[in-house]
Amino acid sequence: MRLADRMNRLGTETAFEVLVRAKALEATGVDVIHLEIGEPDFDTPANVVEAGCDALQGGWTHYGPAPGQPDLRDAIAEYINRRGTAYTPDQVVVTPGGKPVMFFVLLALLQEGDEAIYPDPGFPIYKSMIDFSGATAVPLPLREEHGFRLDVEELARLITPRTRLLIVNSPANPTGGVLERSDLEAIARLAVEHDLVVLSDEIYAEILYEGEHHSVAAFPGMQERTVILDGFSKTYAMTGWRLGYGLMPGELVGHVAKLMVNSVSCTASAVQRAGLEALTGPQDEVRAMVEAFRRRRSLVVEGLNAIPAVSCVEPKGAFYAFPNISRTGLSSKAFADRLLDEFGVAALAGTSFGAHGEGYLRLSYANSEENLRTALERLEACVRSLG
Ligand code: PLP
Repeated sequence: MRLADRMNRLGTETAFEVLVRAKALEATGVDVIHLEIGEPDFDTPANVVEAGCDALQGGWTHYGPAPGQPDLRDAIAEYINRRGTAYTPDQVVVTPGGKPVMFFVLLALLQEGDEAIYPDPGFPIYKSMIDFSGATAVPLPLREEHGFRLDVEELARLITPRTRLLIVNSPANPTGGVLERSDLEAIARLAVEHDLVVLSDEIYAEILYEGEHHSVAAFPGMQERTVILDGFSKTYAMTGWRLGYGLMPGELVGHVAKLMVNSVSCTASAVQRAGLEALTGPQDEVRAMVEAFRRRRSLVVEGLNAIPAVSCVEPKGAFYAFPNISRTGLSSKAFADRLLDEFGVAALAGTSFGAHGEGYLRLSYANSEENLRTALERLEACVRSLG
């Protein structure tokens, strides 16, 4: 079958491929610890599940407005504005997961001849979607020695007259790095000076271990040029429900809503009712989940730093550790393959997140402390086996 040329430009997320490989290995009787997939191991809070069930029973089984249900858009605007912004509910578009915000916004804004800057290592779909749009994807290296925060001077050097869009992600996948207020301020200054749109992926905003989350959209001149991407997948352990949203300049809303109409029509109606309960109901389970992640973070980072030839900076947010394994002598991919095939731990090579991920592994610590301890023992055995 002849495929359209654009399909050659579409990338993927290795996490799903590694999951399939790990499951195949498990099917042969091998015990595998899963540290590859980026989702909370907790269940969705019971009040949210109940709201979803009630909605289905209560007839929320029909199409709804393309940009989302009005009361959910109200609640989202109110929630996000705690980050210092002043979005109105009509600037909210509710989507099936956070990913479609990337897809729709990049399709709506980018075209051939444009350049878009994205973090490397970073969430792989950024580059994939920029490539798909026809624009040129320009990687912005995130370096360990800089706490995996972007270097503002390096960013300034990458901006050209063709640069149209910048993607920032804080707290970040895969590094757990968090941008400081001063970084955001400098990014905002550059964006205004060079007339850039910023896609600010804040999906891990609530999974932060120190201080308060700041949005780049809250800085002067930024709300009118920023799209905030956020959602329910991580904060409320709702990955499988598919519920996310974008907050964007008013002039963009109609276009993104049109892309919704042309693709999925709307986000599932009952799922949106559950989302309303998640945002407006009790938040104690979110707090308990973050505290559990905090304990696991210490366990994993201390454990990794005790392994010869491995070092790990402490992640400040999200639920990933990004250890440096370059001194083991293996490439990221070779190490990840060996760790899975011979030691039964599924992790991702840093290069799954871009070329600058070489020398690193991504471990998701959304797993039990017991499993994490066993995984660390196996990782140490893997390193020792290399002599
Ligand atoms: N942004 C980042 C940085 C992520 O890590 C993920 C999921 O892994 C997403 C967006 C997408 O989230 P969703 O599952 O809501 O589409």
